[in-house]
Amino acid sequence: MDVLDHAELPFPTSLTEFQTLFPNDKACAEYLEKVRWENGFECPHCGATGEPFRIATRPNVLRCRKCRKDVRLTVGTVMERSCVPLSIWFCGAYLITSQTPGMSATQFQRQLGLSRYETAYGLLHKLRSAMVRPDQDKIGGREGEHVEVDETLVGGRTRGEGRGKHHKVIVSCAVEVKHSQPGTAQDKRKDGRYAGRLRLSVQPDRTASSLCGFVESTVAKGTLIVTDNWKGYSALKDMGLGHHAIAECGDPEIADEFLPISHAVFSNLKAWLMETHHGVSPQHLQAYLNEFTFRFNRRYYPMNAFRSLLGLATHAEAPTYADLYSGKWKHPTCCG
Ligand SMILES: [Zn+2]
Repeated sequence: MDVLDHAELPFPTSLTEFQTLFPNDKACAEYLEKVRWENGFECPHCGATGEPFRIATRPNVLRCRKCRKDVRLTVGTVMERSCVPLSIWFCGAYLITSQTPGMSATQFQRQLGLSRYETAYGLLHKLRSAMVRPDQDKIGGREGEHVEVDETLVGGRTRGEGRGKHHKVIVSCAVEVKHSQPGTAQDKRKDGRYAGRLRLSVQPDRTASSLCGFVESTVAKGTLIVTDNWKGYSALKDMGLGHHAIAECGDPEIADEFLPISHAVFSNLKAWLMETHHGVSPQHLQAYLNEFTFRFNRRYYPMNAFRSLLGLATHAEAPTYADLYSGKWKHPTCCG
């Protein structure tokens, strides 16, 4: 749900602005503290409140005045147990959030001024792990809004192996369609329709069980689904979903008129995969789809993307600091 949360801190619009906001480890630590305790420090060991002791040489540690135990600010985040300074982590997350995707470890190392390639590689890998974890909650379910569902072929060139043979992968898309306020500037484009949240998934085939299974696992019950008239979608009605199939979808003009958002998503996705990754092998495609989805769903809320990359909780189901200390909750690790 973090896509819908407005982070209260403004997101820096340039690297200079970023460095003014987070000039050193101390500033980063203050930010971590603010994220954890909106209303001031509360000791996870004894529950005491009030100003803790601060240690000048260890900005990411607070010490409780009552029980004298240390509280590490990075516990439960991607920065936990890392020797890399907080300011480097923050700058790395900023670069990934704000710059063109597909940054290599070498570029990353140069930008952050790191002496070792391995450090840059490890940092990049850990920060990206937040992006390649799929978003779990279901999309749709809002009154007056529908969800477009469509599928496309991605990647892999056919090499003269006969008809019907290809190295392409089927990718399903489900995307919320929202409507701008009438009379605004955005209202003029695509009849005022624009995209809400997105889900993308690799499919083994175009059968009803694959395509409808994808819809069932990603779209909330009661949502109106708009698809083309491929028979693989005809079972949607039996699954408690409203279904509107557009006839004559073989005609590209009709398809663009009725499924404009999913078609725009597919063309952006294909351009991104080609330009930044020069094509992607099928076994890694889902991780790239997740990264694309992560950026897409947070395009209006870069501060939430930044926080997610650092492993700073931004949603309601987030663990409490006491959970983190009792070991009840663990920061999810990279799935690839
Ligand atoms: Zn305490």
